Amino acid sequence: MINSLFRLRSLNGHLWSSAFLTIGADHFKGGGSLGVVAAIATDVAVMYAGRIAELAPANELFRAPLHPYTQGLLRAIPVPGVTKRGSQLPAIPGRVPGLIGTMHGCAFRDRCELASEECASSPVPRYAHGSDGFVECFMAAPGEALQ
Ligand code: SF4
Repeated sequence: MINSLFRLRSLNGHLWSSAFLTIGADHFKGGGSLGVVAAIATDVAVMYAGRIAELAPANELFRAPLHPYTQGLLRAIPVPGVTKRGSQLPAIPGRVPGLIGTMHGCAFRDRCELASEECASSPVPRYAHGSDGFVECFMAAPGEALQ
């Protein structure tokens, strides 16, 4: 599978060089899948509750994630040579909200340690992140406001 992905990437260049992280964090237990994403993707979109929370070049996103959800996901990955075998990895508390019906504010707010009142009532702003990326969060404002 991984060899096939690398072959597709080299055959098709940019078309096959993106990958997505999704809300299925269980898929990333052990961190192996994230290692694959880091190796093959040029850009990574982190989705939460059906929306892209953060989109950035892969190296930038893994080096300095801006969205609290991305930060939580990356904290939950064991680091070779650092994480002790059998140790408890930090998990993001809470559950993904139901996706039926209209949602106001930030879908991650019940699980976010930075959440404030405005996160519950206002549309979450989108800020530019690098040349083509963005992040949607009140607390992360790396670039110009996009909406
Ligand atoms: S918008 Fe608010 S609740 Fe959502 S991730 Fe940012 S700080 Fe947390």
